[in-house]
Amino acid sequence: MQTVGHSEHTLKTALISKKPELVKQYEQLDPGEQRLLNEAFRPRSDLFGPITLHSPSDWIISHPEAPQDFEQFFSNLHRKSPSPGKQTIYIQCIGLLGNTRSISEEYLKWLKGYCEAFFYGLTVKLLEPIPVSATRCSFRINDSTLNLQIHAGQILTFLKKKKPEDAFCVVGVTMIDLYPRESWNFVFGQASLTEGVGIFSFARYGTDFYSSHYKGKLKKLERKSSSDYSVFNDYYLPEATSVLLLRSCKTLTHEIGHIFGLQHCQWLACLMQGSNHLEEADRRPLDLCPICLRKLQSAVGFRLRDRYKALVRWIDAESTDTPRVTPKHSR
Ligand SMILES: [Zn+2]
Ligand SMILES: [Zn+2]
Repeated sequence: MQTVGHSEHTLKTALISKKPELVKQYEQLDPGEQRLLNEAFRPRSDLFGPITLHSPSDWIISHPEAPQDFEQFFSNLHRKSPSPGKQTIYIQCIGLLGNTRSISEEYLKWLKGYCEAFFYGLTVKLLEPIPVSATRCSFRINDSTLNLQIHAGQILTFLKKKKPEDAFCVVGVTMIDLYPRESWNFVFGQASLTEGVGIFSFARYGTDFYSSHYKGKLKKLERKSSSDYSVFNDYYLPEATSVLLLRSCKTLTHEIGHIFGLQHCQWLACLMQGSNHLEEADRRPLDLCPICLRKLQSAVGFRLRDRYKALVRWIDAESTDTPRVTPKHSR
């Protein structure tokens, strides 16, 4: 196993920058915050480690991209930041996320609470869940995997029209697989960063999606008319296991991170690392490295201590609750 190694100097510059005004801004953070962020370049830090490479199909090897340090993030005039009056992240559920309405509601509450702690200081609101038919999007059966898929771009157009006045962004979540255009096999998600909208599917995060017993395979699409969406009524949804919830939390926060203008992280093991396949996505940590954390902090304006406390509160609250959506698996 290889690691992506950076010198102490490189990591320090990526975090703090060499621009005098950004160095000054860093020095104005409270000493505890600096102590934590400085772990980025402390050799053998217990808190943050290097990115590990496991195969040539890993993202960094197969998708060479220019790295983005704090200075590049900060000076990007086109990135989206929450502004007064636009401080709310809206989550729009399309179709159910679980086999029953109550499991779906629990699932959404879980995602909302997690996002609220993760993007501490912003409000997260759930829009009233809607059926797939409400989006009037196209859909199809995938030729090779034989599962139902909905058209990602048409859902984005729908979400743009629905975007509330006070929204920083609207993110659609669905358990139905997505395709971006006819010639493509599938896509995990799609977003318009300038418009602040995104749609993300958790369909492929179920533990059974790639198994030969996957129950979401359909032989033929029977539609009485173009407005017939009845195939979605009793379509198979994977069980809401803890693995599925964990993957959903990671995906949603990673993708909303992109809407803030955070690009794929190439510095340290981090939630914002790109991922090319499920095993690599699972390997990504749940939280941000110090360089990406400073980016998010400068966009949202939270104190690091408050954000971590909120995350701990969320973990405590969820672990003292009686298990509901995760009956079969430990957390
Ligand atoms: Zn990404
Ligand atoms: Zn990072």
